[in-house]
Amino acid sequence: MYVLEKAPAKINLSLDVLYKRPDHYHEIEMVMTTVDLADRIELIAIDQNTIKIESENRFVPNDDRNLAYRAAKLIKDTYGIKQGVIIKIEKVIPVAAGLAGGSSDAAATLRGLNKLWSLGISIEELATLGAKIGSDVSFCVYNSTAVARGRGENITELPAPPSCWVVLAKPRIGVSTQSVYQHLKLDKVKHPDTEGMIAAVKAGDFDEMCKNIGNVLEDVTLPKYPEVRQIKKLMELSGADAVLMSGSGPTVFSLVKQESRACRIYNSLRGFCEEVYVVRMLGYHQTLE
Ligand code: ATP
Repeated sequence: MYVLEKAPAKINLSLDVLYKRPDHYHEIEMVMTTVDLADRIELIAIDQNTIKIESENRFVPNDDRNLAYRAAKLIKDTYGIKQGVIIKIEKVIPVAAGLAGGSSDAAATLRGLNKLWSLGISIEELATLGAKIGSDVSFCVYNSTAVARGRGENITELPAPPSCWVVLAKPRIGVSTQSVYQHLKLDKVKHPDTEGMIAAVKAGDFDEMCKNIGNVLEDVTLPKYPEVRQIKKLMELSGADAVLMSGSGPTVFSLVKQESRACRIYNSLRGFCEEVYVVRMLGYHQTLE
């Protein structure tokens, strides 16, 4: 018996940090959606009571540091499951890129094991479990378009945004999410208009969506990594309708209505940047049954 799940990358259409809470976490408000760039998660039932990760990507840990492993362990512990599973991860989403690849793998594992072991867990319950693994996992369980508040675990779903082309570019640098949050000076940053973004998504208004795009974390990452700023500039010069850094970076994405412009942006970045992709914005959950 096996189950296949698609684990898509997420992008932030807006990312705001409101304040630092007494428990030291940041209170955030983000509008997130998915793009059609996904890892392939294959879950194979085994009789031995173990969890085994198989991945050929050298950046993906194959032990309990892997978020998909933690997802399986959490489900087994919470529901007293004595069976085991092999989790095969075919990695397509760039690692440590601000695209929530690890969180999406964990969420796909939660959804997939729910099917493999016929547990009948509701999507809300899976999202609550997901929050114990990482802040982006709850959103990735829904795999659609949503506003995430709190630490990211408080999800309100939105309709899929107007579809468009998305060009993703990841330079060959690593950015520590923790360090970006540490260096954020909340009194000095320009906050994005989250309500404006929500209204644009609800109205299906592409131009308004482009106007309201914003990520408060750019204030930390852009001055520190000139390459990220250069990629943004190149995308703007090549005709993107909107350009933004995803999460804490370093991946930058463009939203583009016209396919020919998306190709132009892709060509202008190939060679300049380690990894470049042209994909469609997805924004809704694709069921494979
Ligand atoms: P975040 O913004 O939450 O840090 P990210 O999208 O920038 O996420 P990921 O691709 O999720 O980054 O990877 C971050 C780290 O998590 C990697 O350095 C890797 O060691 C670890 N990791 C754990 N599980 C996975 C997984 N299934 N796929 C990729 N990385 C994983």
